[in-house]
Amino acid sequence: MNTLEKKKLAEMPKIELHLHIEGSLEPEMLLSLAEKNQISLPYNDVDAVRAAYRFRDLQSFLNLYYLATQCLKTEQDFYALTLAYLRHCRDENIVYTEMFFDPQTHLEHGVPLAVSMAGIAAAQGEAEREWGVDSALILCFERDRPAEGTIALLKDAEKIGGIIGVGLDSAERNHPPAKFAATFAAARALGLHRVAHAGEEGPPEYILEALDKLGVERIDHGVRALESPELVERLRAEQIPLTVCPFSNVALGGFGNLQQHNVARLLESGLKVTINSDDPAYFGGYLTANISDTWDALGLSFEQTIQVQKNAIDGCFAQAHKKREMYEKLSVYG
Ligand SMILES: [Zn+2]
Repeated sequence: MNTLEKKKLAEMPKIELHLHIEGSLEPEMLLSLAEKNQISLPYNDVDAVRAAYRFRDLQSFLNLYYLATQCLKTEQDFYALTLAYLRHCRDENIVYTEMFFDPQTHLEHGVPLAVSMAGIAAAQGEAEREWGVDSALILCFERDRPAEGTIALLKDAEKIGGIIGVGLDSAERNHPPAKFAATFAAARALGLHRVAHAGEEGPPEYILEALDKLGVERIDHGVRALESPELVERLRAEQIPLTVCPFSNVALGGFGNLQQHNVARLLESGLKVTINSDDPAYFGGYLTANISDTWDALGLSFEQTIQVQKNAIDGCFAQAHKKREMYEKLSVYG
């Protein structure tokens, strides 16, 4: 990307569809929350935390991720965390974002659902009022936990209000999606959207299973789809959006570096690719950096930047009139 294109990328309205709010917990905030909530961490300073934010694979990341989430205790903590991410959105011209959260982890840490959701909702309201940053919330179930109790949790969240859909995240290997079929059917019956992480570390079969057994409307990651030509054909024919997260894939060892990432091939295969940051505090950057560095590494065109933004508008769960507005704002850039 040349300087002018980078400037246009920074200025253009952008959308993010794969972001775990807990994964936006920066080391500075982690340490201050740990001190405030009197939780002892095995790190003395920001440098030690940053050093720990180097991972071998998904599991080594998740181990630290769950340790860090113990420091989120009060409504104010969730508010501060969410507002900090939405401030990033303001600064990067991310006009709309669909955020994931992991309530099972917080419940295990003694944080009631109403507490985490109230903090997140307060920040969402403020970001929209103050900065015009629009956002939505997706409740994720953790696939390496039992499915028991997830329908009750879903109903509790529905009563509180404020979620637009459900997702499936956490350790993928040996945790195929089908276990959550009843939970996703319940979500569908409640009129909620459905997405699932699949084909990140898991095989292409998990993507198929998420589509067929969970009825998902988007696949989070999905980079291993390329291993199955039949699956690629189906994803292309049905234009199923893939929320690809390049920095995350490299940080967790899915690809050796950005030059080896398969996002260019996914795009060339006619798949509905979007670019996202996943857990930006842990993986080295937010949305704009993910796009800019990946485009530079792979020599992708500026038109393809516009294409992934259009894909994100098509693939997001915003109302039709909001999508039209996003398209209009984007049209200035190409
Ligand atoms: Zn993710």
